[in-house]
Amino acid sequence: TRTQDDTNLPSAAKKDMADYLVKLEKQFTITPQRMRMIVDSFIDVLDRGLAEKGNEVPMLPTFVFGWPTGQEKGSYLAVDLGGTNLRVCHVELEGDGKFEVTQTKYRLTEEQKLSDAQGLFDFCAECLDNFVKDHFGDDDGNVDLDEPIPVGFTFSYPCEQDRIDHGVLIRWTKGFGAPGAEGEDCAALFKKGLEKYNVPVKLVALINDTTGTLIASSYVDQNTRVGVIFGTGCNAAYMERVGNIPKIKDLGLPEDALMAINCEWGAFDSTTHEHLPRTPYDVHIDETSNKPGEQAFEKMIAGLYLGEIFRLIMCEMIDEGILFLGQETYKVEKPFVFDTAFLSLIESDPTDELLTVTGLFAHFFALDTTIAERQFMRRLAVLIGTRAARLSACGIAALVSKQGLMDGDEATSEGKTIGIATDGSLYNKYPGFPQRLEEGVVDIFGEKGRAIKTYHAEDGSGVGAAVIAAMTKARIDSGFA
Ligand code: BGC
Ligand code: MG
Repeated sequence: TRTQDDTNLPSAAKKDMADYLVKLEKQFTITPQRMRMIVDSFIDVLDRGLAEKGNEVPMLPTFVFGWPTGQEKGSYLAVDLGGTNLRVCHVELEGDGKFEVTQTKYRLTEEQKLSDAQGLFDFCAECLDNFVKDHFGDDDGNVDLDEPIPVGFTFSYPCEQDRIDHGVLIRWTKGFGAPGAEGEDCAALFKKGLEKYNVPVKLVALINDTTGTLIASSYVDQNTRVGVIFGTGCNAAYMERVGNIPKIKDLGLPEDALMAINCEWGAFDSTTHEHLPRTPYDVHIDETSNKPGEQAFEKMIAGLYLGEIFRLIMCEMIDEGILFLGQETYKVEKPFVFDTAFLSLIESDPTDELLTVTGLFAHFFALDTTIAERQFMRRLAVLIGTRAARLSACGIAALVSKQGLMDGDEATSEGKTIGIATDGSLYNKYPGFPQRLEEGVVDIFGEKGRAIKTYHAEDGSGVGAAVIAAMTKARIDSGFA
C-alpha cells in the first residue's frame, strides 16, 4: 500500500504523468480559432439538413407549430423515455406560465434497452397504466373518466415525423438497440401497448426532449430561442420559419408559419470526420459502441461517454505502467464502470489533498492513489469536461448564428437576452459546465456573445410534452390539422 503523499512514487512515473498531461492537453484543448472553424462547418451542415431529407444532421420537422402563449391550461400525462429512466408525469397546466407536476420514475434495465422493442413499449404502457390507476382510480384501481386523458410521449431519439402523433425511429442512440423499432412508427408501437393494457388515455403527440425543453421554457420565459439537452445524450431544438425548410415545401404550409426543428446535432461529423478533433479515445468509444459510425459529436460531449473517455485514458496509463503501480486494477478496467458523475466529484473535491478522490478510488475500485495521481485525475477531468462544454458552445453558436440572432439588434442592444434553455445532468450537476459553455460562446463571438445566456429549464420532457399536447389540441380544435 501507498501513503498519502507521493514519496514512494518512482520519480519516473511522476515525469511520465507530466508528459502525458502535456500530450493530453494538446489533444483535448480547442482553441477559439478552431471553434470558429467548427461553427462555420456546423452552420453548413444545419442548412443542408433543412434543404433535403436524409442528411447527416437530419434537422427533423416536429409539427410543433410556433411558440406557446403561456396561457395553455389543462390536465395532461407525459411518458418520458429518455436515456436512463422511464418517467410518467401528471402535469397540471394552470396558465400564466404556471404548472404542477407529479411523477414516478422507473429504472430501465440494460436488458430492456436491448431486447424486443414491443416489449419496451409495452413496459411504458404498463407503467402508465399503473400510474393512472394510482392517481385517477378508486381504491380497487378502477378508473372511470368521461374522456381519455391526453398523453404526450417524450421519446428522445431521432424520429422522422409527418404528423405530430407519429414518429419513425431513424436510429437508436445512447446505447439503446432494441430490435424492431428502427424504421418503425414508435408512436404506433406505444399505442399497441396502450391497447394491450386498456389504458384510458389518448396519445396526442410524440415529442423530442429538446423540443419539449424549448417549449416548456418558452411557456415561462419569452427570451427562449434554443432548447438543449446535456444529459445521457446531447441535442438541440429551435424554432424555424417554414419558408426556410425547403424539404417540406410539398406540404403547402404557410411560409411564415413557425415550426420547431429537432436538429439531432449529435450526429454532426459522423460520416466524414472532417471537422471535430477526435482523439484515439473518441475513436475507440465509437468503434466499440453498439452504433459505430454514428453520433460523433454526441460521443465527445454527452454524459454517457465522458466517464468512459476518462477511464480509457487511465487504462492506457495503467498498461504503460504509469498509474496505480503494483495494484490490482481489474475493477477499473471494465467498460463504462467510470460514471461521468465521478468526474463531477473529482472536479468539485474541496480539499487540498483531494480526499474525495481518494475515497472514490478506494471505495469503488479498491485502489490507493497518490496525491500526484489525484492531481493528475483532476486535471484530466478538467480537460474532458472543458472540451465537452466548448464543443457544445460551437453547436449553440451555429444555431444562434444561423437564426440571424447575432446580426441585428438582438445581440448588440443592451440587456437583450438570447435564451438557451437547457436540461440534463451534465448542465445541472457538472461543476463549472455552464460557465465553460458561456466562456466558449464568448471565445467564438467576442463580447457580443454575452447576450447568449444559458439557463436550466424546468422539466422539458414533462411540462413540455403537456404544453405541446395542449397546443396540439387547440390547433386541431381550430381546424388547422
Ligand atoms: C438523441 C436525441 C435526444 C438527445 C438527448 C440523443 O441521443 O438522439 O433525440 O434529444 O439524445 O436526450
Ligand atoms: Mg431526460
